Amino acid sequence: MRHKFSQCLLIVALLAPNAFAQGVRTSNTAPDAERLRAHVTYLASDKLDGRRTGTAGAEMAAQHIAEEFKRLGLRAGGQQQAISFNGKVGGKFTAYVQTFPYVAGVELGKTNSMHFFPRVSEATASVRPASLDLRVREDWMPLGWSANGRVESLPLTFVGYGISAGDLNHDDYAGANVAGRVALALAGTPEGDNPHGQFARYAELRFKAAAARDRGAKALVVISGEENFQDERLARLRYDHGGGDAGLPVVVISRQVARRIFEASGVELSFDKSGKPVDAASIASANKDAPDSGGDSRTPPPRFTSVNLPNVAFSIAVDVARRETSAHNVVGLLEGSDPKLKNEAIIVGAHYDHLGRGGQGSLAAREGEIHHGADDNASGVAGLLELARLFSQGERGRLRRTIVFIAFGGEEEGLLGSNFYINNPIVPLAQTVAMINMDMIGRLNGDRLLIGGAGTASEWKGWIARANSDPNIRMVAVGGRDGEKQATAKSAGAEIPAIVGANGQVMATASPRQRFSMTLNEDGFGPSDHSSFYAKKIPVLFFFTGTHEDYHKPSDTAEKINYEGVARVLSFVRDIVLELQASEPRPTYTVARGGGNAGRSIGFRVYLGTVPNYAESKDGMKLDAVRDDSPAAKAGLRAGDVIVKMAGREIRNVYDYTYALAEMKAGQEYEVEAMRDGQRLTVKITPAARK
Ligand SMILES: [Zn+2]
Repeated sequence: MRHKFSQCLLIVALLAPNAFAQGVRTSNTAPDAERLRAHVTYLASDKLDGRRTGTAGAEMAAQHIAEEFKRLGLRAGGQQQAISFNGKVGGKFTAYVQTFPYVAGVELGKTNSMHFFPRVSEATASVRPASLDLRVREDWMPLGWSANGRVESLPLTFVGYGISAGDLNHDDYAGANVAGRVALALAGTPEGDNPHGQFARYAELRFKAAAARDRGAKALVVISGEENFQDERLARLRYDHGGGDAGLPVVVISRQVARRIFEASGVELSFDKSGKPVDAASIASANKDAPDSGGDSRTPPPRFTSVNLPNVAFSIAVDVARRETSAHNVVGLLEGSDPKLKNEAIIVGAHYDHLGRGGQGSLAAREGEIHHGADDNASGVAGLLELARLFSQGERGRLRRTIVFIAFGGEEEGLLGSNFYINNPIVPLAQTVAMINMDMIGRLNGDRLLIGGAGTASEWKGWIARANSDPNIRMVAVGGRDGEKQATAKSAGAEIPAIVGANGQVMATASPRQRFSMTLNEDGFGPSDHSSFYAKKIPVLFFFTGTHEDYHKPSDTAEKINYEGVARVLSFVRDIVLELQASEPRPTYTVARGGGNAGRSIGFRVYLGTVPNYAESKDGMKLDAVRDDSPAAKAGLRAGDVIVKMAGREIRNVYDYTYALAEMKAGQEYEVEAMRDGQRLTVKITPAARK
């Protein structure tokens, strides 16, 4: 049920931190842990329902941020003319909102049907066979990313698990010709559900769909891995962002229907109690010629031989309707005071969306529970709001350049909000001198701070080092029984005053200590919004306090946040922004040493040096960037190219691309076809081995 608007407003008014923080006198130059706690407690509360992009909870979060921006006197950075806030959120804040299109989900359209034609024998071929109508939801379901369309009365080929894995010497399509037919495959892999098995990445249905399409199949029908179809996750009609549709109809059918198909075709296939397909004497053969497993006595996984199923045919019509809605970035500006430098912008950003009640991206065992996302990334948003407060108040006079504060939507679905921003910037990207991203800064453990992007501007390391040295000399107690600490104190003892106990041991020492023990990562690409900016050659820094066992689970809750820690991280970020303000020249963009393909890589053996764009596509895969000196750069590929064919495979989207990549070998030359300025070009690429 939808919340009533007036009720929402009341709740917001009662819970919004500004409502109860007003009476508290706090510093307007230092971050305040209690304000941070109030923001996180609200954003991560049950009311906001996990802030999944496209939901009312995410809109309430956006409204909260916009209200704060307004209260602090930030200039609205939204594009009022483009607003379609669905009337759900208060209109007076829409000026702070940048709206982008978003597929909130998928639902069944009107024309979903499946007919199964059993026993079309020679004798009865002239008679139209009685078809069996299968019921959508009970017997079968299309996948959320299935292509819409229909196939009429096509024959079937059983293709085992439907896996074609060149690197594993495994091809379920060997000897099969599925061109113009329907491919029928088992869910899962020969190794069951083992997430660490060598087949694990091929369990992904997107890959199976690409393999089927590649072989010319007209549709892919997947046999459910669950005995009870209602338990089948694949049947829950989910839309995964970033891929576009599969290019052919892809559906899942129940075990019961699968049994009828095999029965009718006279081919045996049955499932044991644990759900593993067994026996199938005529089609399965225990993998006798598998390489010796080195004394391992487990029986090798069964390898199915593909087989054309006689006597049966399928007609399938798939109609999956997308629920198109809008999602939002919230943007507020503080204009710089320097007549010249104010035309340059520093972006300070944090994403406010999270995983809602689970589903895509969730690591929870079950679906349906609220994923609170206190660390990911209410902590970063609270930080954003606190920095907006400091820079609009106590530090206002030190702003020479303009700061653009952005709370991004759609991050968890693939950096959608930041991707939209870089294509629709408020300040031109050429005048955007740096992007500072905070994502998960709520779990400071000891002094450990991780900073990404350290290699993306030549000034960064010097500024980071300066910001990290604590100007206050402190007395640090040295544990009496801790030999290691004593040794440290003694070795430094020559310059630093120390208190020495009666027994001659150092008890305390004064040292110019570092604020954090930092881990710097050179790379400007990574799994958060700064990636989008680095792809546009903008220097970036990414602040992060590390991952933890509550990551992407409902248990990432507000009371587990280290608020003093967030405040400490923010003081540091504030100082970096002040360095950026003080420096006359803008930071110098440098090419960072990369750790391989950016973003959500799946563990390939080869490396091309491409940075895929994860936005929706179906006409190829666009490159956000190409690393210098990488195989892709040497091949002549560059940012903006749209790869349409690679290693002999058609590439429609990022899934096809990763599928092709998985099969490529280092040192071997492949052809890549790409679109550039409307022209199709062909280049040769030689992948490098991943280190
Ligand atoms: Zn996340």
